[in-house]
Amino acid sequence: MRRGNGAAARRREWEPCGNKYLDALMSSRCSCGKKKTPKKSFCLACFLMLPQDLKNDLYSRLGDGYEQAYDAAEKYLEEMR
Ligand SMILES: [Zn+2]
Repeated sequence: MRRGNGAAARRREWEPCGNKYLDALMSSRCSCGKKKTPKKSFCLACFLMLPQDLKNDLYSRLGDGYEQAYDAAEKYLEEMR
């Protein structure tokens, strides 16, 4: 299968920068292993499992509470699996 224009495909592909939170956010793979939308923290299935306060916290900005929110959400999801 052709994957289309190489340059465009590369632009869509996030190159890991070593920042766990930014890499997880920009990745197209959720921490559960399913596909997710880049710039979303988790796939929809995971996101919907989160309690409302954790969902709200994930709208924080990087460097302004997002890291703590992501860690809390990740921990919560691990316990749910
Ligand atoms: Zn997921």
